[in-house]
Amino acid sequence: MTPLFVSHGSPMLILEDVPATRFLRQLGEMVARPTAIVAVSAHWMTRVPAVSTAPRPETVHDFYGFPPQLYTFRYPAPGAPDIAERIVAALDTAGMTAAVDPEQGLDHGAWVPALLGWPAADIPILQLAVQPYLDAAHHLAVGRALAPLAAEGVLVLGSGSATHNLRVLMRGQHGVVADWAQRFDDWLVARVEAGDVEALVDWKRQAPDALMAHPTDEHFLPLFVALGAAGEGARGRALHRSFTNGTLSMTSFAFE
Ligand code: ZN
Repeated sequence: MTPLFVSHGSPMLILEDVPATRFLRQLGEMVARPTAIVAVSAHWMTRVPAVSTAPRPETVHDFYGFPPQLYTFRYPAPGAPDIAERIVAALDTAGMTAAVDPEQGLDHGAWVPALLGWPAADIPILQLAVQPYLDAAHHLAVGRALAPLAAEGVLVLGSGSATHNLRVLMRGQHGVVADWAQRFDDWLVARVEAGDVEALVDWKRQAPDALMAHPTDEHFLPLFVALGAAGEGARGRALHRSFTNGTLSMTSFAFE
């Protein structure tokens, strides 16, 4: 099962009809049907790796000041506590201690792409957290530990953003792109498609405008989990490229 990284954008995406929305609506048909989805969301941040174990995860509307309609969406897919336990065991084998959280629901980094891509909500889903104070190499190692599960048909779905600087959003401007955002995105696509894991892991030093694209790391880290889950020697393919709000890249990848 090909691991994916998707840029989930603003929650408004689900109400808008931009190219990224149309892309995410086709996602379920672009890949094989997974046996379960491990959503690696930028919006669940923990000190050590953590998995959600709820058998019926709640849909969490973890955003504020948006139109009331956005708070009515539900994603009633079952949880996957069995897969969560296997992830804990796989991370343990890789030398990492993982926590389990029976309370964690599905935040919008998980349910927005899941609802668009797999609207029937009939595939078990769980979340895996990111560690914002740990680096790309750590997240690559977490992903590598998940490679056997991916090979069995579990979808590792990294959900973040290829660029993410909310201080310089150009709200509602979907037809323009800031130069720095384009430069970072071009570098990212080139390195991913070349399978240049070394450069990607060293992104803070090597990528142009890295700190402008990601003043904080959390929206970029899910990409490394997906990359790792594809195994050694994997390379990615851009499934979609577009921008919203002038600076927010919606670039999304499959790793194979
Ligand atoms: Zn986000």
